[in-house]
Amino acid sequence: METFKALSTSEIAAMKAAIANAEKRTSGELRVFIEDHSEDGPLDRSAFLFKQLRMDKTKLRNGVLIYVAFRDHKFSIIGDVGIHEKVGGDFWNSTKNKMQTHFRTGEFLNALLAGIEEAGEALAKYFPYQVSDKDELSNDIIFGEDKI
Ligand code: CA
Ligand code: CA
Repeated sequence: METFKALSTSEIAAMKAAIANAEKRTSGELRVFIEDHSEDGPLDRSAFLFKQLRMDKTKLRNGVLIYVAFRDHKFSIIGDVGIHEKVGGDFWNSTKNKMQTHFRTGEFLNALLAGIEEAGEALAKYFPYQVSDKDELSNDIIFGEDKI
């Protein structure tokens, strides 16, 4: 895919593995959505996608979405009400800052991995893994032209 050539197959696999690893420690669900461009700002767009991808349907309302508009150099990270009321607004800002540090130096993969790791830690703390856990949302990285 021309527009996403900054991401190799192995990088996509690394992200997917990071999500799967993080989810071994939590009942929460992490997802990454990447598209080239959106007319909407990253927060509005990710809130829209969150619902569109049915991420607001998890049992404990603990889904976290990392959204990237690749060409726009914009991104956001948002969580459902369950995790949000535990971590508060500062958490998303500090996670965003950590990701931003990597994006600035062009480390696209590391930026996303940092976001997955931070959110994974918070989810593991407040929503530890349960034996009965289901993978409620697939760990596949979703690209804009796939479904939406
Ligand atoms: Ca789960
Ligand atoms: Ca999952």
